[in-house]
Amino acid sequence: MQTISKASCTMASFPCTRVKSGLCLWPGMKQLCLRKGLPYGLLRFLSIPFKTLWGASRSLKVTQFCNVYNMSSSLQIELVPCLKDNYAYLLHDVDTGTVGVVDPSESRPIIDALSRKNRNLTYILNTHHHYDHTGGNVELKARYGAKVIGSGIDKDRIPGIDIALNGGDKWMFAGHEVLVIETPGHTRGHISFYFPGSGVIFTGDTLFSLSCGKLFEGTPEQMFSSLKKITALPDDTNIYCGHEYTLSNSKFALSIEPNNEALKNYAAQVAHLRSKGVATIPTTLKMEKMCNPFLRTSSMEIRQSLSIPATADDAEALRVIRQAKDNF
Ligand SMILES: [Zn+2]
Repeated sequence: MQTISKASCTMASFPCTRVKSGLCLWPGMKQLCLRKGLPYGLLRFLSIPFKTLWGASRSLKVTQFCNVYNMSSSLQIELVPCLKDNYAYLLHDVDTGTVGVVDPSESRPIIDALSRKNRNLTYILNTHHHYDHTGGNVELKARYGAKVIGSGIDKDRIPGIDIALNGGDKWMFAGHEVLVIETPGHTRGHISFYFPGSGVIFTGDTLFSLSCGKLFEGTPEQMFSSLKKITALPDDTNIYCGHEYTLSNSKFALSIEPNNEALKNYAAQVAHLRSKGVATIPTTLKMEKMCNPFLRTSSMEIRQSLSIPATADDAEALRVIRQAKDNF
């Protein structure tokens, strides 16, 4: 009884404002219930130490809501805004205290986030070599002795790289399996980090919410193939991308598929979140499949909007959509 009232109190004080699919009223609860059944989920929830709930009560702005996303897998993910519209992500394994950061654009916001919780940094993961994803590498490595992990293809372009990984490699982050997926197109050495046990993927500048990265070093065929690898993952995979571009992306998406009801609803939700300064990330693969024009190359409405022939293949459709987006 005492435990229950404690839990109720905790829940009542959650400042969680996320509206997406009701997922975050009790962060993690939905997954717990789905995976192990309600009684197990309840027991598990009530037995979770208070410290694992801390992330849901972080101070407002984009960091304040539902950053504890995968309590069932002991991996906590904290979003750290960097530069103008980049996101870095702090990974924290609750069991071992191991901390990693994905794509630190700059060091200061990462140092501040770590200092607030008196944490060290063990790993730096880079999805690709661009400065707005690696700018903090050298300083963070020098300060914490962290190991830098990146693509073997781009080992000469990733500052401070220690561990070079390639597509198909498996790597372990504090007991969490990490699958490296080669996702070229934006850059030739771009990789994505997939954590199957937690159902999350870090897609850098390959897949954004409602868009994909610009084709700086790759072809439409490569980008289509990269996106296809991501869409083959489970629909409930949470997607953490490198930028908060969703609102502007939604305007382009609506311009070429104005009758997509799911997109209209999502765009309204995105506008609401952004009007409050709240992050739209993570998104889910399911939402992106329903709304992201770059995953909807077979949509007749999109093809008609951009005069893409019905006979054109998906990569050609992607090329035309990308070109239209570049000129939007
Ligand atoms: Zn980039």
